[in-house]
Amino acid sequence: MSNLKEPSFRESVDLMFNRAVALMDLPPGLEEKIRVCNATYTVRFGVRLRGQIQTFTGYRSVHSEHMEPVKGGIRYALGVHQDEVEALAALMTYKCALVEAPFGGSKGGLCIDPRLYEEHELELITRRFAYELAKRDLINPSQNVPAPDMGTGEREMAWIADQYARMNTTDINARACVTGKPLNAGGIAGRVEATGRGVQYALQEFFRYEEDKAKAGLSGTLDGKRVIVQGLGNVGYHAAKFLSEEDGCKIIGVIERDGGLMDENGLDIEDLHNWIAKHGGVNGYPSGKYVKDGAKFLEEDCDILVPAALEGVINLENADRVKAKLIIEAANGPVTAGADEILRKKGTVIIPDMFANAGGVTVSYFEWVKNLSHIRFGRMQRRQEEARHQLVVDQFEALSESMGKSWSLDPKFKEKYLKGAGELELVRSGLDDTMRTAYQSMRAVWHERDDVTDLRTAAYLVSIDKVASSYRAKGL
Ligand code: GLU
Repeated sequence: MSNLKEPSFRESVDLMFNRAVALMDLPPGLEEKIRVCNATYTVRFGVRLRGQIQTFTGYRSVHSEHMEPVKGGIRYALGVHQDEVEALAALMTYKCALVEAPFGGSKGGLCIDPRLYEEHELELITRRFAYELAKRDLINPSQNVPAPDMGTGEREMAWIADQYARMNTTDINARACVTGKPLNAGGIAGRVEATGRGVQYALQEFFRYEEDKAKAGLSGTLDGKRVIVQGLGNVGYHAAKFLSEEDGCKIIGVIERDGGLMDENGLDIEDLHNWIAKHGGVNGYPSGKYVKDGAKFLEEDCDILVPAALEGVINLENADRVKAKLIIEAANGPVTAGADEILRKKGTVIIPDMFANAGGVTVSYFEWVKNLSHIRFGRMQRRQEEARHQLVVDQFEALSESMGKSWSLDPKFKEKYLKGAGELELVRSGLDDTMRTAYQSMRAVWHERDDVTDLRTAAYLVSIDKVASSYRAKGL
C-alpha cells in the first residue's frame, strides 16, 4: 500500500456517505444516527485442536436496526478486524436499502485462515463461534441472519443452522436463522451463484442505456468486451463464467493470490477454475502470460474491470494508472475513497459495490422467506401456473378438434410449458427484476441531478433516503 494518507476501510465508507449526505436535507442528527455502527460484539473463544487449546477472535457488528432482522455475511480471513467488519456492516445497511431487501445491516468475521484446518476442525470452530453468537441473539431468524462471505460457504452455513436448531429446539423457524445453506438443508436454488449472477445482471442493465455507456466511453453490447477479473472466488468465478459463456465477454485477464494471467484471446474460465482448484493458483496454466505481481493487471487497458476479491485494492497509489473504462465492484469496498475521487475526475465510471454485489443478499432474502413460509419458493404460484397452462393446452386441443384440424403442439414445448417456472427460474427472474429496478432508481438520480456526477453518490442518496424514511416513520 502507499505512504500517501489512506483512510481505513470504515473511514472510507463514511467519507463516501458524507459526500452524499452533504447533498441531502436530513434533519440534524439523523445523518450521524444513520452513519454510525450501533454495536460490535467481540468474542474470544477456545477450541481444543490437535491436543492443544487454540484461541480465536470473532466479531459480529450491527450497523443499523432500522429494519430487523439485520443481515450480512460471516467472513473467515486472517485479516478480519473490527474496522473492517464495521465497514462491511455499514455497506450491508445501504445495500439492503438500495435493493429493498427488508433488513438492517450487519456483518461478522473470524480471524482464521481456513485453509490451515481440517474439515472436522473447521466444524468445531464454526459451531463454537455460532454458539457464542446465537446465545446473544446475534444469530436469530427474527433478529440477525448471517450468510456466507469470503472464506465461508454452504458448508459453514449448514453447521451454523444446525447449531442454532440444537440450541432452540422449539423454534419452528430455526432454519431461517442463516441463509446460503445447501439445498438439502433449507437452502434455495441459485443462491451459490447469486452474487456473480447479480454482477452479470447489473452489467446487462448498464449496457441497455446508450447514455450510460457513453459516459464510460463504451458502446454496443457486452459481446466482445475485454474484461479483467480480480479473484476467481465464488463471486468472481461466477461473474466471469456467466459474462464469458452467456454474454460473449472476453476475459483477457485474471488476477489471483499467486499472480496474474493475461490472454488477449480470452481465458476459458471453467477450465482455469478447475486448474486453480487442482494446483492452488494460476501459475503454470498452459495458456496466457503469467506474471507474479498480479495486481499490476489492475492497471492494464480493458473495457471492464471486475475487482472481486478484497477491499482497498484500488487506492491512492495505483488509481491514477487504472485504465479500465468501467469498474464494477463485485467485492465490497475495492476502491478507497481517495481512489474514487481520482477515478471520478478521470471519468471512469464505477458501478458501486452496494448495488453491484447485492445479488447475494437478494437471493438470501428469497431463502429466508422460503424458510419462514415452510414451502418451496413459489410452490403455490407454480401449482396455479401449472393449472392455468393445462387449461390453455386443453382448450387449444379442444379447439383444434372442434374445427376438425389436426393442430398439435411441439411435444418438447408442451412439456416445458406445462411444467411452468421452477424455483431456479423464479429466483433468477426475481433477482434480475431486483437488479434492474435498483439500477433504474440509481441512474434516475445520476441523470436528473446536476450535483450528482457518479453512480456511487446516486446509490448512497437512494439508500440513505430509504433508511431515513424508515427512521422517520417508526422513530429511533
Ligand atoms: N456476504 C454477502 C454480502 O456481502 C451476502 C450477505 C447476505 O446474503 O446476507 O452481501
